[in-house]
Amino acid sequence: RCGFVAIVGRPNVGKSTLMNRILGQKISITSRRPQTTRHQVMGVKTEADTQTIYVDTPGIHIMQKDRNRAINAFMNQAATQALRDIDCVVFIVDRTKWTNEDDVVLEKLSHVQAPVIVAVNKVDWIEDRSKLMGWLAELEKRRNFAAIVPISARHGTNVEALEAEVAKHL
Ligand code: GDP
Ligand code: MG
Repeated sequence: RCGFVAIVGRPNVGKSTLMNRILGQKISITSRRPQTTRHQVMGVKTEADTQTIYVDTPGIHIMQKDRNRAINAFMNQAATQALRDIDCVVFIVDRTKWTNEDDVVLEKLSHVQAPVIVAVNKVDWIEDRSKLMGWLAELEKRRNFAAIVPISARHGTNVEALEAEVAKHL
């Protein structure tokens, strides 16, 4: 089996961290500062019966200030391009925090035929489990997602379960 997986999400949700975690090496720069990844970063994970090509998109950005317009437009285009020939999308959101930028990403994904798996990241920061459960139920209403998987990209929690969900679509 072989397939392309796009990792999408607003800046700072943990796309690069997840990519590095899955591939087991630092191939994508992670940072507290948004927009650290300017170009698409690709990584290939080869296993016994599967080859998975992950694409860490530069993010889908909202136009902010005029001086950022060109770079934002470029990055938006790159991100949209990445969504074309893929088998599966991993849409990363932050635990409990939904912003306008998440809406923008979701809107972009509405044109995507491929199955979308939501990874609810940074659950190591969840202090209240029932809040998380409520949030997961909330997410289910936004789109018919292929799966919703709570993870911690930083600690690796549940990342294998996420990969198993991805593998179903390759
Ligand atoms: P990107 O902009 O989506 O690529 O986000 P990054 O991967 O660069 O991560 C942004 C920030 O969130 C960094 O400071 C990461 O260390 C942090 N981060 C990423 N994943 C997790 C996680 O699972 N838990 C916590 N607590 N922090 C995380
Ligand atoms: Mg990044």
